[in-house]
Amino acid sequence: MAKLEKDEHGRLIFTEAMRKEYTILVPQMAPYHFEYLVEALNTEGYNCELLRTTDYALINEGMKYAHNDICIPAMLVIGQFIDAIKKRTVDKGKVALIITQTGGGCRASNYISLLRKALKKAQLDDVPIISLNANGFEKNPGFKVTPKLLHKLHDAVVLGDLMMSLMNQVRPYEKKEGSVEKLRQSIDENLKTFFNHNKWFTWGHIKRKIHEICQAFSEIETIKTPKPKVGIVGEIYVKYSPLGNNHLEETLEKEGVEVVVPPIYDFFLYSFDSRVHDIKRYGGPKKEAFVLKSLVWYVEKRRSAVRKIMKHYGFDAPVPYKKLKALVDGVIDVGTHTGEGWLLTAEMIDLIEHGAPNIVCTQPFGCLPNHIAGKGMFKKIKSLYPESNIVAIDYDTSASKINQLNRINLMVSNAFRNMKERS
Ligand code: SF4
Repeated sequence: MAKLEKDEHGRLIFTEAMRKEYTILVPQMAPYHFEYLVEALNTEGYNCELLRTTDYALINEGMKYAHNDICIPAMLVIGQFIDAIKKRTVDKGKVALIITQTGGGCRASNYISLLRKALKKAQLDDVPIISLNANGFEKNPGFKVTPKLLHKLHDAVVLGDLMMSLMNQVRPYEKKEGSVEKLRQSIDENLKTFFNHNKWFTWGHIKRKIHEICQAFSEIETIKTPKPKVGIVGEIYVKYSPLGNNHLEETLEKEGVEVVVPPIYDFFLYSFDSRVHDIKRYGGPKKEAFVLKSLVWYVEKRRSAVRKIMKHYGFDAPVPYKKLKALVDGVIDVGTHTGEGWLLTAEMIDLIEHGAPNIVCTQPFGCLPNHIAGKGMFKKIKSLYPESNIVAIDYDTSASKINQLNRINLMVSNAFRNMKERS
């Protein structure tokens, strides 16, 4: 039985012995990506379990143990963790939690401390928490990000972005209802064994898989009825998590539109690049800037091959990161990188320039960084792109779902009207 050990600051650490015995609970933050991330982690000797609960009521657990002033993504993640531990019937005392830590200027950097405080209040303070970050914070002897794991995590994010994009491009037009979902299930089943390999240093392995997936999607029979495209942007958690955004993707698709969600990988590249930007502008370790810059270059090189394959099979592919960044020239400074920062503005412009002028900008209530780079940029964007049709939706513990739906419906009906007028 693994012993509880603390570091010099009194923090409970995740030990080597725990790695063998403990289950690591992972909050579901992005449905396409996290399934694969968990598979990748499990092939590297961890025992991770993805929390798939989508009942909004678990926010009550978050509200019970965390101050109600904190951002809704933290409230939901904390609620989801505590709810899962309480409901556990097996190995209740052998669970650890994993959470991302951004290290940026906003409250997301403190989610881990809030979670520790909440666990203590819930008398669960013997549960270790693993911080997943690129800055080397909070080391744990039982959890090491090796180059092999890093490559597998990279592949998981690439596949998640790919599946999200293909599903959204094909499902609204499928001839036989359910055929896209059926294909997804068979691909997911097949991907369960994909990460169980040692060929992490080669590119051919994943390239073949991407070809296979794109080909399978291209063979689905479709009816190309014109539909307006609606993009989703915003704070990372409420943008991707159905729990955070009340199943926004599904809601929009039911309204008869094609949904476009920008890739999650751009957010990671933006985080690395922001650090490089800070080091250049304010000083800092040059070696770190070089490593991060090389990482962005390497990831982009691999992603450009994915883009080529997607285009080869007739699908729209996301724009390269460098181009995305260039879109905000003269609109917002690229030093704006608290929360989603300039990336949020860039994503809106990219969507408009690529045929999706209708946008839902999701933001947690009281999320200042995203109100600045999101809602705060609407006027400027409207003046540059008069055809834009953007609605801001706030997500809060007390936000009315009906109110959210009314605002979304109004934006969608404008989207249909605009499409008709332009045709
Ligand atoms: S980006 Fe917004 S929601 Fe996320 S931690 Fe910062 S303030 Fe909170």
